[in-house]
Amino acid sequence: MNRALCRKCFIDNILERVESEIKKYNLIKPNECVLLAISGGKDSFTLLDVMAKIHNPNKLIALTLIEGIEGYNRADVLEFMKSKTRELGIDHIVLTLKEAVGATVDEFVKNMMLRNIRIPPCTYCGIARRRAINKVAREQNADKVATAHVLDDEAQTYVMNILRGDITRLVQVHPRGPWLSKLFVRKVKPLRKIYERETALYAYFHGYKFQERECPYIIHIPTLRARIRDYLYRLELEKPGSLLNLVESLDEALNEYVKKYYELPELPRCKICGEPTSYNREICKFCELLMSVGLIK
Ligand code: SF4
Ligand code: ZN
Repeated sequence: MNRALCRKCFIDNILERVESEIKKYNLIKPNECVLLAISGGKDSFTLLDVMAKIHNPNKLIALTLIEGIEGYNRADVLEFMKSKTRELGIDHIVLTLKEAVGATVDEFVKNMMLRNIRIPPCTYCGIARRRAINKVAREQNADKVATAHVLDDEAQTYVMNILRGDITRLVQVHPRGPWLSKLFVRKVKPLRKIYERETALYAYFHGYKFQERECPYIIHIPTLRARIRDYLYRLELEKPGSLLNLVESLDEALNEYVKKYYELPELPRCKICGEPTSYNREICKFCELLMSVGLIK
């Protein structure tokens, strides 16, 4: 932070910091097969490139999900990511949300409007993507799923769960968070100590083509997260390093506390789809969403 580095030293510094985070929390072992969830944004491009440099590319599989949102299908981004995975020698699976879990985001929204119900499209999109990523990771026998969450995302999620008083979710942000079901392939976030502005620079240095297009549903992003994000950005501007301090302090403070959650029983299974659901639920949130808009009976 606030250091003037040349291009080579900047790239080396990012690689070192990612490797150090992986080592510190034993996120990925050298022989493990890792499924990389890559949307095609700058963060996932950085994840792909960094992981190819620090892990055996034969042990990496990339997955891109097409949400099925009119005007946001990003065929050019997909082609660019495909050429990148080819260049790196990494297998790349591309699936639509319909193929992976049964319905695109637009189909969900259309059915919702027909029934005059209001559910933010991002709620379905997020849950459907998580479901699809876990399903593909299991099918591919992956040991870990790596997502491109960066420091900014981690800080927002930590603060959001504190403000909501949601301790179960709070401990799950921690890199040693509990593993609540054998049906979940363990998730890791190798970029969690890298700022978003650093992934932008890293991607730029590696020929990434930035896109102007935004998802038409972006205005539906939950307001609490949007407010926290704006506040944290102001804080970081006034006092550079604040987000890193926040995440590192919470990691440290929760380090022992998370172990209490290791004793929790395995999550129950949904009566409809058989996937894990919360302790107090018989039907998972995903099936509940599909039922509410008539996509399953
Ligand atoms: Fe999905 Fe919402 Fe992001 Fe659009 S803005 S891609 S609907 S999470
Ligand atoms: Zn279910």
